[in-house]
Amino acid sequence: MSLNIIKADTIIEQIQRLSPFQKKALVKMRLTKVSDILRHFPVRYGESGLVKAIEFLNEGDNAVVFGKISKLKTTKTFKSKIAISTAEVEDSTGKVKIVWFSQPYIAKMFFEGSLVRIEGRVSAKKNKLTKTKTISDSEARVSEELNFTNPKIEKVTQIPEGTSGSLFAGSEGDSHNLFPVYPESRGISSNWIYHTIQKIISRNVLDTLKDPIPQEILKKYNLPSLKTALIWIHAPRKKENAEIARKRFAFEEIFFIQIDRQKEKFIAQRENSFTIEKEAEVKDFVKSFPFPLTSAQDKSIKAILNDFKTGHPMSRLLEGDVGSGKTAVATAASFAAVSTLPPDRKFGNLQVAYMAPTEILAEQHFESFIEYFSKYKIPIGLITGSGAKKFPSKTSQGQSLKCPDPKGLSLAWTKISKPQLLKWVANGEIPILIGTHSLIQKTVKFKNLAFIIIDEQHRFGVKQRMSLRRKHDIAPHLLSMTATPIPRTLALTIFGDLDLSLLDELPPGRQIPETKIILPHQREEVYKQVREELKSGRQAFVICARVNDPDPDKENTLNAKSVKSETKRLQEKIFPEFNVGSITGKMKPSEKADVMRRFSARGGSASGGKDKKIDILVATSVIEVGINVPNATIIIIENAERFGLAQLHQLRGRVLRSSFKPHCFVFADSKNQKTISRLKSFTIAKNGFELAEADLQQRGAGDLAGAKQWGVSDLAMEALKNIKMVEAAREEAKNLIEKDFELKKYPILAKYLAEKNIVHME
Ligand code: ADP
Ligand code: MG
Repeated sequence: MSLNIIKADTIIEQIQRLSPFQKKALVKMRLTKVSDILRHFPVRYGESGLVKAIEFLNEGDNAVVFGKISKLKTTKTFKSKIAISTAEVEDSTGKVKIVWFSQPYIAKMFFEGSLVRIEGRVSAKKNKLTKTKTISDSEARVSEELNFTNPKIEKVTQIPEGTSGSLFAGSEGDSHNLFPVYPESRGISSNWIYHTIQKIISRNVLDTLKDPIPQEILKKYNLPSLKTALIWIHAPRKKENAEIARKRFAFEEIFFIQIDRQKEKFIAQRENSFTIEKEAEVKDFVKSFPFPLTSAQDKSIKAILNDFKTGHPMSRLLEGDVGSGKTAVATAASFAAVSTLPPDRKFGNLQVAYMAPTEILAEQHFESFIEYFSKYKIPIGLITGSGAKKFPSKTSQGQSLKCPDPKGLSLAWTKISKPQLLKWVANGEIPILIGTHSLIQKTVKFKNLAFIIIDEQHRFGVKQRMSLRRKHDIAPHLLSMTATPIPRTLALTIFGDLDLSLLDELPPGRQIPETKIILPHQREEVYKQVREELKSGRQAFVICARVNDPDPDKENTLNAKSVKSETKRLQEKIFPEFNVGSITGKMKPSEKADVMRRFSARGGSASGGKDKKIDILVATSVIEVGINVPNATIIIIENAERFGLAQLHQLRGRVLRSSFKPHCFVFADSKNQKTISRLKSFTIAKNGFELAEADLQQRGAGDLAGAKQWGVSDLAMEALKNIKMVEAAREEAKNLIEKDFELKKYPILAKYLAEKNIVHME
């Protein structure tokens, strides 16, 4: 292989021979260049994988050795005919014996003299001759034959530098040394990554790298340079070094995200938007609501109306627990927009786009908007994957069922073709368009789009959010809404460009569900209670952690209840007199919508749900987001120990919308005290944000609902426990952008961010 100089952008293939399979795996892992693999960080450092020189092996060690394999041999035991393979591995300090039972193929996989990595426990076979003698320690070393029994063995291309010398095994058989364990994929083992990185490091590539974090910031926060941090993260001598290195990379990631967000904010502040000034009109409009606003809703609406007046685009996040009434806020803001004339015009309206993550939710918002806007005769369109609808309709096809119109026609919607709907949206005749992702397709053009609402914001990526806004010459105002309670540090990071409005109170009279932890022997009792509720016309959700039953052949798969078998069991054995239905994330959108239609007892809680076709809906956590079925007052959560606290809270929110008394039964299969006490904190807590913080601290960021979708690495997620670090990164990013928006004084940083963003856009 060539010994040319390796640089950050050298292709890995130029330094390491790759099979086609490995090549594919690396592409999938997005590891193609030297700089990529250097930033492929260990997930942990293997205690079990202590690399040692052979001469320092002791009986009982869990150790890794590297060496040359020889004397490969397979025999069978005399009596039981078990295959025994033996070999010897040698490094520059000594030899050790390896034994495998019943794995005769092993001897065939390696050639005499192959380089291998051996990992396993070291045991000693007492030498018969010395067994009865009293011997000194040093003699014992000689007379005991050390061996690895059934160890893991892997071929390696070279012995990592210093394995039997400096790097890992110090002269005293150093046990502080840590062996990094990397995220793997088929064909690319942790070990392979390790060796490749060591090879890269040994060829002085680190000296060619330029640190994207400005020097003064490193100094200020006492963070290691890029070069030091890379060595410390990939080949730490001490745990503390690895930790400091991780801290640096976590800071770096958050800092870079913050720079992007602060930039967005900076740009947005300079763009122009439609000016909307409708305070008095909105005041009247909300008076038509069937309820008074909570003061949190009032405050949020005022904040939005203030933003609307500035002539620059609003970027606001509305965070509110489930049931806190975000739709009402969105509706009031929409009213302000659609009752504004386009500039220099005598008629027409500014337009609103309302994007929901699922068809079910889009349909629900469509219905809500019809209800809220019924008096105003403002046309509303709905566009989803399965079709288009328009309100009002002259020919009645479907009623807004939430709010049946006594006179018949005026509240009806009609199905229309998508092209027709899009035509009306494009010429401005339909001022409000509600929909799913279909809204951001190229074919959707507005005449005067002034305001975009994104519901359940965390389901959409930042890029989607940006693309939605960037399509337009005049930047629309943007309201993102989320019910996912997220910790403050995470909100500051991923929504760093947004201003925040909190709906931190529920509408009055809302009953917090009575939440009970149910132990296995209390199950029957709960079913009895549920039966009574169902008899009086209420409905129930049953949440299961999995869709299907685990493979019965696989023994140690956890036996959590599945939607499939639980639906069957409840229908046949427990509630034969009621209708049990099911819904999972795997179903097609149209199937899901159909189930929801049959479950929704249209007519609201007042009707007592008399139109329902399903009494009990068994579901996965797909119902987590936004479903509004006021007649459903019971939620049973099976295997609750498998859900994060914030997620449980969201699930509980599904039964929080009615005037009937709601119940939440938490079935826990675990006797683990820690689990039970965690669940107890859920029965007490009333606020999702508190629970999200608790999740972050107790279980780690990976357990936050939807954590993966935020596009933050596990490393940075860990750092989110540290509010000081997040605030520092934000502060520095803000300063930098304010002082030097184009990063002219920081060319390395500018270049780095530009390249990073190109990769992200791919
Ligand atoms: P979310 O914040 O979860 O999206 P919604 O907007 O769907 O909540 O509102 C939940 C329910 O509360 C709806 O039925 C809505 O009509 C009702 N609601 C909203 N605001 C109020 C209020 N101020 N007082 C009483 N009920 C309200
Ligand atoms: Mg909602």
